[in-house]
Amino acid sequence: MANPSFDVLVVGGGIHGAAVARDAAGRGLKVMLAEKGDYASATSGASSKLIHGGLRYLEQLELGLVRSSLVERGQLLKTAPHLVEPIRFLLPLYRRQKRSGLMVQAGLKLYDLLSLGHGLPVSGRLTPEEITQLPRLRREDLASVLHYHDCQTDDARLTLAVALDARGRGADIKNRRAVTAIEPLDHGYGIELDEWGAKRRVEARYVVNASGPWVASVDALSSVHPPSRPLRLLRGSHIVLPMPEPAEPSAYTLQDAEDRVIFVVPWLGGRFLMVGTTEMPHEGDPGTAVCSAEEEAYLLDAYNRYFAGANGPATAADVVFTWSGVRALEDDHAAKPARVSRSPTLARIANGAGGMLTLYGGKLTTHRALAEEVLEELRALGAGVGGPWTKDVPLYGGTLSRQELLARADSGPAMASREVRRRWAFTYGDQIEALYGRLVRDPTLAEEVAPGVMLVELAHAVEVEDAITAEDFLLRRTKLHLMLDQSGRDAVEAWFGRA
Ligand SMILES: Cc1cc2nc3c(=O)[nH]c(=O)nc-3n(C[C@H](O)[C@H](O)[C@H](O)COP(=O)(O)OP(=O)(O)OC[C@H]3O[C@@H](n4cnc5c(N)ncnc54)[C@H](O)[C@@H]3O)c2cc1C
Repeated sequence: MANPSFDVLVVGGGIHGAAVARDAAGRGLKVMLAEKGDYASATSGASSKLIHGGLRYLEQLELGLVRSSLVERGQLLKTAPHLVEPIRFLLPLYRRQKRSGLMVQAGLKLYDLLSLGHGLPVSGRLTPEEITQLPRLRREDLASVLHYHDCQTDDARLTLAVALDARGRGADIKNRRAVTAIEPLDHGYGIELDEWGAKRRVEARYVVNASGPWVASVDALSSVHPPSRPLRLLRGSHIVLPMPEPAEPSAYTLQDAEDRVIFVVPWLGGRFLMVGTTEMPHEGDPGTAVCSAEEEAYLLDAYNRYFAGANGPATAADVVFTWSGVRALEDDHAAKPARVSRSPTLARIANGAGGMLTLYGGKLTTHRALAEEVLEELRALGAGVGGPWTKDVPLYGGTLSRQELLARADSGPAMASREVRRRWAFTYGDQIEALYGRLVRDPTLAEEVAPGVMLVELAHAVEVEDAITAEDFLLRRTKLHLMLDQSGRDAVEAWFGRA
C-alpha cells in the first residue's frame, strides 16, 4: 500500500503547531500533526500564562508586536472565554527605580490606546487610601501604584483547545508521535514517525517545523531545510507559593534590582501565587529544563523585596511547585536576554512541488495571527489555500460566555458538586455539556477516584482529549496536581495504571 499522504505535516503540538494545523485544516488542506510528547508538554505549558500585549516590549519599541498581541488578546477574550480571563495588574513605583514614573505612565496610556474596544478597564493610579489597603506591599520609598488590565489563561488547555479544534476540522492530530526522519522527495517529503516504538512512514507536500526549542534538530532531520537562523535558547522559570492571608485578587508587575520585569500573579482561583520569570541561557536538551536553586532564590528575593508577609519572608520551604520553559528566539545578538526581540520569524525553502517552513519565537497570545502568516508562506510555496478564516471563530469549547458558563455550572446535575461543576465550566467550556450528558446517561460514572475527580472526567480526558498518563491529566488537562493531596494524586496515578 502507498504511504498515506498529506498536504501538510506539522511537527510539534505546542501552541504554534496546533494553530497551524487548525488554520490549514480549516482551509481544506489534509493535515497531520505529530507531537512527540504530550500537547503543550514543552514551552506552551510552561509560560507565564498571560494573554497580554507585553507592556515591557513598548520600552523596546516593539510597537508592532504589542499592537498585534493586543488585537489577539481581544480575539481570545471572544473566542476562548472559558480559558481567558481579565485580571488587574498593579505596578508599584518606587523612588529608587531607574524607570521614571512618567515614562511608565505614558507607556500605560499607549497600552490603553492600543487596547481600545476590548472592554477592559483603562489604566490609572490607586488613591493613597487604596494603597493603604494593599495587605503586603512594602511602603518604604513607594511613590505611587499604577493599575492596568491584561488577561490570564491556562496555557496547556488553550493549546489543547486549538488542537482539538483542528481535529474537529479534519486534521489528524496525535500526541506520542515523534518525527524521526524527513527525506526530501520530488513532490515534498517522506516522513518517518515513531509511534510507541513502531515506525511508520507518511508523505507530505509541506512540512512545518513548529518544534519550538527543538527547531534546529528537527531541521537537521532533512537535507533540504530552510536556511538556519542563529538561535538563542532562553530558559524562564516560575515558582508557586501558597496565597498568603489575606488573599489578594490583583496581580503585580514588578521590577527586579536590574529593572527586569517579574510577575506575581494569583493562580487557580486565588489559592496560589505564581512568581516569574527568570531569563537564563539554556544549555542542553530543552526537555530537561528545570528551575535551578539559583533561579528559585532569585525569584524569592524579588518577591520578598516587594512584599512583607506576617510570617516573615517567603523561603524555599514555601515553594510548592516550579516549572521552566525554553524560548527559541532568533539571535539578534542583543547583550541582555531581555533585550532579544520577541517578534517571531519564519524561514522557508521550496523542495520540488513542496517545501518546508520553520518557525522561531512567537507568543502564546499571537498564535492565531502567526498561523495566518504561516499559511501565507505556504501559499508562496505553491499551496492552494483559501483565505484567512480564524478571526472571531470560537476555539473548541469556546462558544459560551463566562456568564453563560456560570449559569450552566449552577444548573448541572447534582451528582457533581457545585465546586466541581464550576471547575469543569472553566476547564471544558461548552464541552461541560458532554460531561453532563455522560453522567446522566451512566450515573456509575459519578464515582470519585479522588476527591472531586469523577470517572466521567477521567473517561473524557482519555477518550476525547488524548490523555495517556496521570501527568497528562493532572498537569495539563487539569491543574489538579496542585489541588489534590498526595493520596489523591496517587489514586489518579493508580487509575491510569489500570486503564
Ligand atoms: C518562561 C516563558 C514564559 C512565557 N510567557 C508567555 C506569556 O505569558 N504569554 C505569551 O503569550 N507567551 C509567553 N511565552 C511564549 C510562549 O510560551 C511560546 O512562544 C510558545 O509557547 C511557543 O510555542 P511553540 O509551539 O512554538 O513551542 P513548544 O510549546 O515548545 O512546542 C514544540 C513542540 O514540538 C514537539 N517536538 C519537538 N521535536 C519533535 C519531533 N521530532 N517530533 C514531534 N514533536 C516534536 C515538542 O515536544 C513540543 O511539544 C513564554 C515563554 C517562556 C519560555
